[in-house]
Amino acid sequence: MWIFCLLFSTLFCQSQAQNQAVLSRSRDSDGRCLYTFTVASPEEASCSGSSTNPQIDGVLSRLSALEGLVGRLTAGGAGGEENLQEAYSQVTRERNQLQQEKEQLSRQVQELQKTLADLNEEAETLRQRPCQETQTSGGVWHENRPASDPADDSRNGSYQEMKAEVTEVPASRFIPEGNHSLTGCGDLLSVGNPVLHRKADSITGKYGVWLQDPEPQGLFYSNKTVWRVDAVGKDVRQLFVYEDMDQFSRGFPVKVLVLPEPLESTGATVYRGSLYYQRRRSRTLVRYDLASESVASRQDLPEAGFHGQYPYSWGGYTDIDLAADEQGLWAIYSTSKAKGAIVISHLDPTSLEVRRSWETRIRKKTVANAFMVCGRLYTVGSYTAANTTINYMFDTTSGEGRAISVPFKNKYGYNSMVDYNHGQRKLYAWDNFHMVAYDVRLGRVSRRSS
Ligand code: CA
Repeated sequence: MWIFCLLFSTLFCQSQAQNQAVLSRSRDSDGRCLYTFTVASPEEASCSGSSTNPQIDGVLSRLSALEGLVGRLTAGGAGGEENLQEAYSQVTRERNQLQQEKEQLSRQVQELQKTLADLNEEAETLRQRPCQETQTSGGVWHENRPASDPADDSRNGSYQEMKAEVTEVPASRFIPEGNHSLTGCGDLLSVGNPVLHRKADSITGKYGVWLQDPEPQGLFYSNKTVWRVDAVGKDVRQLFVYEDMDQFSRGFPVKVLVLPEPLESTGATVYRGSLYYQRRRSRTLVRYDLASESVASRQDLPEAGFHGQYPYSWGGYTDIDLAADEQGLWAIYSTSKAKGAIVISHLDPTSLEVRRSWETRIRKKTVANAFMVCGRLYTVGSYTAANTTINYMFDTTSGEGRAISVPFKNKYGYNSMVDYNHGQRKLYAWDNFHMVAYDVRLGRVSRRSS
């Protein structure tokens, strides 16, 4: 438009200078503007015909073309703006719709997560039911079976009688009966070959402890969560958390918790949403709540040796070994009063106070490790021999122990931790950088075998 004005003003000034120019404007048949200048010729006395100045005609022609162009641009600009507004409105509508769909999907995910958690909890309850036992006022342990279950012989006391028979039968006579090798408590019949799940990639993983919670509580973690502590070092505080066994095997922790008090050795265990461990250079037991990530309780284990007084045969300050099984939380250790023999204490899992203790006749330094299954202590003969045995069993129900011989393999030659998980029915072990698990078979003995 400014070009148009410039040309116009130039021509106007020129016409003023000649003082005889007349400008007129009209439209042609196509609706375009036509500008006409009439100038008296200084040389010709009269105008012959209707001839016009070709330069003026050219200027007028260009002005007309320019005005048409401006008109088209103006019209096009208005249309483009409308198109942009329409496109913007459409994008806004789509964005709002996507937002609604996202919120709906989020609600569905939350509902599915809640359903999954409920199902896991229910499955865990069902799986635990055959192994749950309750203690009567008389101190006798019973299996918690439905009243209609024909296998429930606890009411007439024959169950206790059967357990007494177990202790009298050599290990070679053990045979599984029915489904008792898959569910419920029983004697340890056999241990499978070690299955490798992860190999540590630094010296801090020479020995350590790895676990899954057999009875998880709350929604923070599940029985699939894997917990790992590399136990080499003087200030062991890092607790690695893995979402599941697959992530554990890949070496991708979901988080790392830092324990407020350092841990010693490989005797820690995870049970009902807490990590239980021995505080470094002390007989103090610590319960670390995994949901709140804080110490929930601590308690000294009375008279327990620590920091090298009564370790397992491989050393490593394995004086106090904590274990969980179908009957609760246990401590495996020794005292000067017991003169190095293994002492077993049943602990209150909340307060860590000792409920009851048993003294065995096997020296702690002569065995490589120990674990609890169904209220029974089992010891491993060697931590280095490729083919060793589980060589001793002590039954806290009868208060009696005896030698047994269940084959056990140390595939990698330096087994520093063995712990039983009754939820998975497996032994978890840390064998010379290798984190392995063993299937176990439980069963009942039968006098029919001979
Ligand atoms: Ca152990």
